[in-house]
Amino acid sequence: MRMILLGPPGVGKGTQAMRLTKHFNIPQISTGDLLRQAIKNGSELGLSAKRFMDAGDLVPDDVILGMVEEVLESDICKNGFIFDGFPRTIPQAKGLAKILEKHALSLDVVVNIDADFSEIIHRLSSRRACVECGATYNLIFSPPKNEGKCDACDAKLIQRDDDKEETVQNRLKVYKKQTAPLIEFYNKLGLLKIADGSGGIEEVQQNILTVLGEK
Ligand code: AMP
Repeated sequence: MRMILLGPPGVGKGTQAMRLTKHFNIPQISTGDLLRQAIKNGSELGLSAKRFMDAGDLVPDDVILGMVEEVLESDICKNGFIFDGFPRTIPQAKGLAKILEKHALSLDVVVNIDADFSEIIHRLSSRRACVECGATYNLIFSPPKNEGKCDACDAKLIQRDDDKEETVQNRLKVYKKQTAPLIEFYNKLGLLKIADGSGGIEEVQQNILTVLGEK
């Protein structure tokens, strides 16, 4: 299964992708996670990406496509993948098509997780991430067992710089302008399915499995 999860920032793509990896036994490839890892490693790519991320802007397409091609060529993706947070622009989608074609591969499905912007702003401002392992929590839907501490590794939980109110507003603006056109792009290719993302984690997962014909 080769799948893309689309949807505005904060709609729960990461959480849902993680659950789908278990259901389909394929890896989740999050360009956001790959970039955060690059920053943590202090690599040149990470350093150049950080200023875009902190402002809520998109990292340039060529950087993202280079990173994705490397992952796609590795063994990790041999049985398929779930892209989460990629592609984010039409040039990225076209670049992905070229990479897949080069390797005689194609996409099976694109699921757009849909929710209101007002709900998303509320959710993003409630999100916390572990400074050590990157696990994410939501103070409303999935709070940690001990306040301010990661369940997995007990390290401190913080609000990501790009989850702060002003940055969130910019991320939504960027999403509307650059990412939302992908919905029509994949619709025209006959690959698009739409899942309601407005409920809790379990409910949204059921919605996704239903549109995928798995329920
Ligand atoms: P995410 O964790 O997917 O919300 O991504 C966090 C930030 O990383 C975004 O706000 C962008 O600055 C950057 N980013 C992640 N994926 C992409 C992508 N596919 N294209 C451009 N920038 C990206």
